[in-house]
Amino acid sequence: MSNVRGIWKESAVEAERLRIAMFSIHSCPVGELGTKDTGGMNVYIRELAGELGKRGHVVDIFTRIHDPDDPLVIHLNQNVRVVHLKAGKNGHMHKLAIYPYLGDFTSALEDFIDRGSLRYDLIHSHYWLSGQVGRWAQQRWDVPHMVMFHTLGAVKNRTGVGTEEPLLRIATEKQLVEHCHRIIAATQREKTELMRYYGANSEKMSIIPCGVNLELFRPVKKAYTRKQLGFDDEKIVLYVGRFAALKGLDRLLKAMAYLQHERGLKLVIVGGDGDSAPDSIEFQRLASQLGINDKIQFVGRIEQDNLSQYYSAADLLVVPSYHESFGLVALESLACGTPVVATDVGAMDRIICEGKTGSILADATPSAIAKVIEDFISKPHSEIESVAAIRESVREFAWSCVADAMIEEYWSLLSHYDLCSSQRISSKLARY
Ligand code: UDP
Repeated sequence: MSNVRGIWKESAVEAERLRIAMFSIHSCPVGELGTKDTGGMNVYIRELAGELGKRGHVVDIFTRIHDPDDPLVIHLNQNVRVVHLKAGKNGHMHKLAIYPYLGDFTSALEDFIDRGSLRYDLIHSHYWLSGQVGRWAQQRWDVPHMVMFHTLGAVKNRTGVGTEEPLLRIATEKQLVEHCHRIIAATQREKTELMRYYGANSEKMSIIPCGVNLELFRPVKKAYTRKQLGFDDEKIVLYVGRFAALKGLDRLLKAMAYLQHERGLKLVIVGGDGDSAPDSIEFQRLASQLGINDKIQFVGRIEQDNLSQYYSAADLLVVPSYHESFGLVALESLACGTPVVATDVGAMDRIICEGKTGSILADATPSAIAKVIEDFISKPHSEIESVAAIRESVREFAWSCVADAMIEEYWSLLSHYDLCSSQRISSKLARY
């Protein structure tokens, strides 16, 4: 580490303090979590940038104007800003519809940079749309470009669930894999997928897991929080997440139909875009068809500040997803001391300790999910880790640890970028 920093310092950058341009074009880091396009990636960017800012690094997160009332700049902390720039209409747009406006976004970005005489040491882009802007900026600014995909089109398509991702996305991802300077994968699984479906070079990739905010997500006394939330002494199975098809809420509802006989068992569903959104209507209709309305409660989207109450009130969180890139909700539940039953997706194999802090479903059919839920909620307390032990099991995932690992990657990337091109070093020296 010190060597890496030493080399970079020789190329005359302001010691220790990095200036990072992050791109999160399609989704705003301060958007409403739990709605259609706003979830784990937004949390990731906000938390990572916050930690970087605390350490004195300067981060500008560029996103599009999602709401006409969005201010140009929001300060997340002393060193971190969210900057809203125009790309298409100033309101919600489907992700794919944004692509033709990326050129407008880069023009607005250039104006903003020029007006503030800004410069950055590196680019960190999130998701393929941002990666495309990152590529453009990389060429203009001659700084290294790190990419995180969060999800991959080719992998999504392989699940066969939800709408097909277009070739444009997959081709753009392939180009990014080839041309960016560093790829961060959140799991070994993602790294393997990048190699298998995109021909990514393993040398170009590092694995840094996602994190959890241990201050925000902490156990609250079960009896107290249940009372607060209006639950009685029933067993509570919890779902927290967006209502995207890939999340598998359909099979969790179907699993509940197998648990009709379990008196005093309730599925509480957190997330979604409100009762009148098409996905919500569809899930409500499915619940009616399955005859389980008395066993489920849709509570809508809940602010992260209040989620600990739900995790703590629950006996079990279920993650029934067909695919996850990581699965932050599982970490959050464990941080609150509540076990997790999940399909074998994302980071579940890394964060769940089989039989102790939860279980990974070998079979994800509704009947098999029902069986595991039933087994888990009827387990004697002595067979499950204590609330404190479950929380302890995820302490290593604190965002501060993620930020430490990322900073290490940034320095390594910078030194490698310059070492690779003596030309670049001399032009940088001339600039400083
Ligand atoms: N979330 C929230 N309120 C909700 C539903 C979800 O704040 O009503 C947050 C949740 O705390 C988590 C994120 O949204 O941090 C979802 O991240 P995850 O990785 O589980 O799923 P993704 O959205 O990335 O598919």
